[in-house]
Amino acid sequence: MSKMQWHQPLLATKIRRPVMGDHIVKNTLAAILALSALGTGSAQAAAQDDPAPGANDLDTVSIKSASGDTLSLQQKSTQTKALEITEGIYQATGFGNSFLVVTNEGNVVIDTSLPQNAAGHKKLLDAVSDKVPEYIIATHGHGDHVGGIPLWRGEDTQVIAQENSVEFLHYQKRLAGFFALRNSAQFGLAIARPDAGSAHPGNFDADIPATILFDDKYEFRLGGLTFVVESAPGETLDALTVWIPEKSTVFVGDLIYESFPNIYTLRGTKPRWALDYVRSIEDVLQLDAEIMIPSHGEAIKGADAVRAALTRYRDAILYVHDATVAGMNAGKDVHSLMEEIQLPAELALPEQYGTVKWTVRGIYDGYAGWFDGNPSSILSIKPNASNISLVKMAGGPDAVVAEAETLFGKGEDLSALSLAESVLSVDPKHKPAWAVRLKILQKLHKASANFNEAGWLGYGIRQSKKALAE
Ligand SMILES: [Zn+2]
Repeated sequence: MSKMQWHQPLLATKIRRPVMGDHIVKNTLAAILALSALGTGSAQAAAQDDPAPGANDLDTVSIKSASGDTLSLQQKSTQTKALEITEGIYQATGFGNSFLVVTNEGNVVIDTSLPQNAAGHKKLLDAVSDKVPEYIIATHGHGDHVGGIPLWRGEDTQVIAQENSVEFLHYQKRLAGFFALRNSAQFGLAIARPDAGSAHPGNFDADIPATILFDDKYEFRLGGLTFVVESAPGETLDALTVWIPEKSTVFVGDLIYESFPNIYTLRGTKPRWALDYVRSIEDVLQLDAEIMIPSHGEAIKGADAVRAALTRYRDAILYVHDATVAGMNAGKDVHSLMEEIQLPAELALPEQYGTVKWTVRGIYDGYAGWFDGNPSSILSIKPNASNISLVKMAGGPDAVVAEAETLFGKGEDLSALSLAESVLSVDPKHKPAWAVRLKILQKLHKASANFNEAGWLGYGIRQSKKALAE
């Protein structure tokens, strides 16, 4: 396959809830949006609202679980020397790690982090060996893995990707305007403007960096090492793993990290199939690797530890999947299942990035699509159609807001929020409704231990404040 031109990295999707102050969050996210803006007006305009951060700010991001444990999806901003995971394999740690495999016939780079991390990572890894890599392997097409490819690649470098990356990159570009709006909301920049989406950027106009595309498996040898690159769909359909048998080491990309996986992501995504994750994890288990290297967080060493981590992750995903399927077959609706399904204690994983609830809905909707089985839903009745009558019957917007305040006072936050939303659906300029909505969202935001949830609550807070200021 001929080498194609690589222009611009696509959307970053892995952003973790920071432990640092809010300014770091804002700047971090501003940077990601600025750099993954896909040339759309919204994100560029939004990014101007925040100063650009220093090149390595993203490396300072880490997350904290509700229990206060700091999780190491990325860390070590002060890294001054590449980490040698095992002989000949080095890691630059960041928001998406970058890896260098050194052989006596040349080097292989696996994942390249975000564009703004890439130069720092390259510097750390160049200090080990500064040869232009023979191969670059992207574990999937998200921006925190492919962002540094332009920096690393030389004239003769082969870039390896799974063949689904072509459609995946086109998909991200096709919906660039939509993702720009969602990202600017979720990642805490400006309130998205309705006119901010880009015009249709073409269905198949993404730049494809790969020079080698494979379907199931691609294998090559370099410097006495075998590199087995294998399709491993999970977070994306183009995800892959890299197995080096001579070192009993497997690179797993984002197949596993220290949170329940983001099987549905709030910024919007095609279905991520739970059973794909399960099958891909089982493929990795078969390897019986001594070292497992994820692209976020730290390597796991020791065959027993690797097996234990993979098994638990697989079982947790499978548990949620099977419970959802059982509920669907029993005729239960998605909202009931979102409330009912919880991981048993022995499979509990922290939920600071993906959550079980969103996954239940992701699986349900992934299998069944949007129709909920209620004939009213096929009549295009808007969800809030009855609110005009109901709010009127309840005594008008002021009376409903008063009830929302009462419920909020009793700690019934979600019921209170629902009432505030009902009023706003009828009267979008009702300031007392915005005010109570703001209070509720601020309380929920403060209590949230999930990065993605906190992002959207933050969006609601900014939106409410803006409405109150108008
Ligand atoms: Zn990632």
